[in-house]
Amino acid sequence: MKLLEELNNSLVDNNKIEYQQGVVTKVSDSVLEITGISNCQYLEVVSIAHNGINSSAVVLELNKDYVKAILLDEEQVSAGAKVRSTNQLLKINIDPSKKGVIYDALGNIQLDILDQPSSELIELLLEDLSPELMDREPVTRPLQTGILAIDSLVNVGKGQRQLIIGDRQTGKTSIAIDTIINQKGKNVTCIYCAIGQKRSDIINTVTNLKKNNALEYTVIFNASADSSVALQYLTPFAAVTYGQYLMNQGQDVLVIYDDLSKHAVAWRQLSLLLKRPVGREAYPGDVFFLHSRLLERGGQLVEEVGGGSLTALPIVETLANDVTGYIPTNVISITDGQIYLEPSLFNAGIRPAISPGLSVSRVGSAAQSKSIKKNAGKIKLELSQYRELASFSQIGSGLDEATRKTLEHGNVLTRSLIQKNNSPLHAVQMIARLRLCNTNFFDKKKNDAIDKGLLLLDETIISISNEQLTKINDGNWDDSLEVYIDSIISKFILENK
Ligand code: ATP
Ligand code: MG
Repeated sequence: MKLLEELNNSLVDNNKIEYQQGVVTKVSDSVLEITGISNCQYLEVVSIAHNGINSSAVVLELNKDYVKAILLDEEQVSAGAKVRSTNQLLKINIDPSKKGVIYDALGNIQLDILDQPSSELIELLLEDLSPELMDREPVTRPLQTGILAIDSLVNVGKGQRQLIIGDRQTGKTSIAIDTIINQKGKNVTCIYCAIGQKRSDIINTVTNLKKNNALEYTVIFNASADSSVALQYLTPFAAVTYGQYLMNQGQDVLVIYDDLSKHAVAWRQLSLLLKRPVGREAYPGDVFFLHSRLLERGGQLVEEVGGGSLTALPIVETLANDVTGYIPTNVISITDGQIYLEPSLFNAGIRPAISPGLSVSRVGSAAQSKSIKKNAGKIKLELSQYRELASFSQIGSGLDEATRKTLEHGNVLTRSLIQKNNSPLHAVQMIARLRLCNTNFFDKKKNDAIDKGLLLLDETIISISNEQLTKINDGNWDDSLEVYIDSIISKFILENK
């Protein structure tokens, strides 16, 4: 049994333990200083009675004579209020059979969109230990995002932690949502955790998920910008707690943290209220620990403990393209790779604006679907050669034939990765795009013609038999499939010359 759980149970079961009574001595914003409950634990919930109103707070700092706690609700508390310890650590109560629900940071239902029948609630500790090393195994199973640029260049595996990083409005959320949409029918439970976002943005995201029938396998944890910093700080922990529970049940889970920059800001505000010393960029010194203990709770478990997985896609917003900031470098070093979005590409209409050079997956092709791996082999190298040449070619004129060809082909490859949001591609569509681009069919064509040609190809290839479609989606690739797909592509080339 987990250490914290054990500790908590021992306290609850022990009848000799008495509930301590204390009093609030000082209030600054949502932080309370309380004396008289010196036996309480870190992360214990205490209840406060004030003018006939009950509210609760969670202990975040233990001192010799007093403790500091943060309020968990919006009630007004002033000095002199009575406090009672509960001997209970912070928990969430969740009904795992319900999907399409928006929870707050404490696991209360904010909105039940699908209104599915409820079953028994389970109680989960908000802060728990991450899976032990011996219970983990390497990431080898692909998690298809449906985004060609990701699945071919920086593929994500089940149990991987892949950072999505970029300036504001560069399509970060869209990549995460597309990944959720692409999990339809793939037996992956998705958890979208919104931290400090505007209500309108969350409504858009949820509407989008609903429109794409993704809510049936998704739940949302939300602490919007107008909720207290305490709740904003706690939400990702609530999300990962639920995710970890499902992983321990042997399920595959995808958790998206949108975004950890706002989470760090919430923790900074809270730390300032707790009067903690500040460090680099005015963040508290333990902000690295904050994010590492959050992201460490994911992974791929070994078969003996159920074989579940928790894939994490944290999002971090950069300022003016600067990935060397404190929070970006922290999270880059905690994760297994990053998807870097470039504003210049986004503004040039190359969307998703994934930079092939700066994006990386440290898990590599070990977790790539075989069918994609066989067809995407050369693309990363060709794209990086193209980008290098493209930056030179802007300076000089009079290019030689070979350079011109590389540039033309690189442009075709870049365009083949363009994809609208909310429209994940099937594996067979991805493979067809890659194989057609390798034939040099598009090399002399204008951008408009290339884009139209690719969309037409997507439509044409999807009409192959269901049996073959599933085979390729499941990652199979052999000579007969290759001959079959190539015959369709040859026909397409003839018809569209
Ligand atoms: P923020 O910094 O505000 O959170 P973000 O980086 O999460 O923004 P999104 O909200 O995902 O960015 O996208 C910004 C805009 O770009 C949206 O209007 C979205 O519809 C559009 N967009 C994103 N991806 C694509 C795409 N692949 N094709 C076309 N438009 C896109
Ligand atoms: Mg966003």
